[in-house]
Amino acid sequence: MFAAASKALFYALSRSTALKRMASTYGMASDDSFARRFIAGETAEEAIAVAHALHARGLLLTLDFLGESVRTPDEAAAATAAYRRLMDVLVAAGIERNVSIKLTQLGIDVDRATCVDNLRRILDPAERNGFFVRIDMENSRYTQATLEVFETLWHLGYRQIGMALQAYLHRTEQDVRRMNELGARVRLVKGAYKEPPAAAFQKKSEVDEAFARLTRLLLDEGNYPAIATHDERMIDIARAHATERGIANDRFEFQMLYGIRRDLQEALVAAGYRLRIYVPFGTQWFPYFMRRLGERPANIGFVIRGIMGEKARQ
Ligand SMILES: Cc1cc2nc3c(=O)[nH]c(=O)nc-3n(C[C@H](O)[C@H](O)[C@H](O)COP(=O)(O)OP(=O)(O)OC[C@H]3O[C@@H](n4cnc5c(N)ncnc54)[C@H](O)[C@@H]3O)c2cc1C
Repeated sequence: MFAAASKALFYALSRSTALKRMASTYGMASDDSFARRFIAGETAEEAIAVAHALHARGLLLTLDFLGESVRTPDEAAAATAAYRRLMDVLVAAGIERNVSIKLTQLGIDVDRATCVDNLRRILDPAERNGFFVRIDMENSRYTQATLEVFETLWHLGYRQIGMALQAYLHRTEQDVRRMNELGARVRLVKGAYKEPPAAAFQKKSEVDEAFARLTRLLLDEGNYPAIATHDERMIDIARAHATERGIANDRFEFQMLYGIRRDLQEALVAAGYRLRIYVPFGTQWFPYFMRRLGERPANIGFVIRGIMGEKARQ
């Protein structure tokens, strides 16, 4: 219950323009500003520096050029062009070719056809250059449309794409089964948005139970699933199940967000597991950042300390 209330509070705060203005002033101002704990930087160069450092620690990565909820065809076209430029920069930088994308960034709110066209303009060069493109899952208003766009692309023959699915939604077992049937790659997450009881489990215990069940289903029947969580209990369940079923470590991967549980990241790599870090960057970091606060309200402490520190320096 507390988790749902905290998500609701931070969701409400994420819509405050005053807070956004204050966070934007202080959050990324210098190398040790508070938002940098979760955001790799505002430019591709900063993200690439982080990516090289992660590779050096034996980690895989996916880059997210932050942005969401665009309302006009021009904004969606600009985000698409930015992703295409980013892929060129990543190829030149020699880092792993893996990106994560949100469909509201590519115009799914403008219209479906615009979004599909934009995604194809990213997937064509992506496939030529050996990129994997993961579609993030947003709030439940978009679940059905996102999966339909995914299947449209899949049926057009694109194979270097995968979906994120959220364990907290009641519908997700059916979606996991569908993705397994297609042979499509799934990233399983708990789910980061505030959702109504009709759409999603509200209690942490229920979400965890669903996450564990879907983890087993994906390990048994999925195509190279990604188990994306910082929850040690969920990670132990995945590890135990893989061992019990004789599923080799290279048939699945774990994923975590940049800036969270570095200790656990190192332990998993040392134990011989594949671990991919989700690295967000860009100027549109506020909604992503607020979701990270909503997951763990204790994070608000370091934000307040950060703002006080920045003010004191002025
Ligand atoms: C690679 C990746 C991609 C994701 N993509 C999506 C997506 O497409 N759509 C979507 O809805 N959600 C996405 N998420 C977010 C996800 O839905 C959860 O909100 C988030 O991972 C927190 O849940 P948890 O599994 O870590 O478990 P929790 O039970 O929330 O947390 C377990 C433990 O992890 C640590 N932890 C978790 N969150 C934080 C935090 N913010 N700060 C500090 N410590 C923390 C704490 O130690 C906590 O006790 C993604 C997560 C990952 C790792």
